[in-house]
Amino acid sequence: MSGNQKASDYVQKHKISARNPIIIFLRNVETHGFDHTKCWAWKGGGKGNGYGNLNIKGKNTTAHRRSYSLFCGDIPAGMDVCHACDNRWCVNPEHLFVGTRSENMADCKSKGRTAGGNRRHLTAWQVQEVMRRLNAGVPRSLIAEKMDISYSTIGSIARGNSYATAQKEAR
Ligand SMILES: [Zn+2]
Repeated sequence: MSGNQKASDYVQKHKISARNPIIIFLRNVETHGFDHTKCWAWKGGGKGNGYGNLNIKGKNTTAHRRSYSLFCGDIPAGMDVCHACDNRWCVNPEHLFVGTRSENMADCKSKGRTAGGNRRHLTAWQVQEVMRRLNAGVPRSLIAEKMDISYSTIGSIARGNSYATAQKEAR
């Protein structure tokens, strides 16, 4: 069963409005049954720069930015949404993180290498992403589950421990 079939079943079961923005967005996404380890391909249009593209109320935006704002929360002004997986077409919110443009250019490749498989320690972007999700009001247990980080490490980051401390505790 495709991810989109699952999504439509979910919509019917929970009586979610077909006009819900997440449902509309997911019509154009191959979620692989919501497998967070896989890249979710954007099946809508693009603009030739490798990024998916869509129109929200007359405004053009990239598909991965839209995904981040729908699933993870607001994107701070002036910030880029970067891909941990280095796949511009991917809109899996678990593969997206907020960074500055220079971080996006310089570090996406190295981040991509840490995106899959077993993580033994946290990368700076993971700590930043945990902070952003905490600030967006995402429950700690959900962050722990979705980002494959221990609950205690999330707590440590929430208490404002430094990246270095969080990294040490995650080892
Ligand atoms: Zn991806």
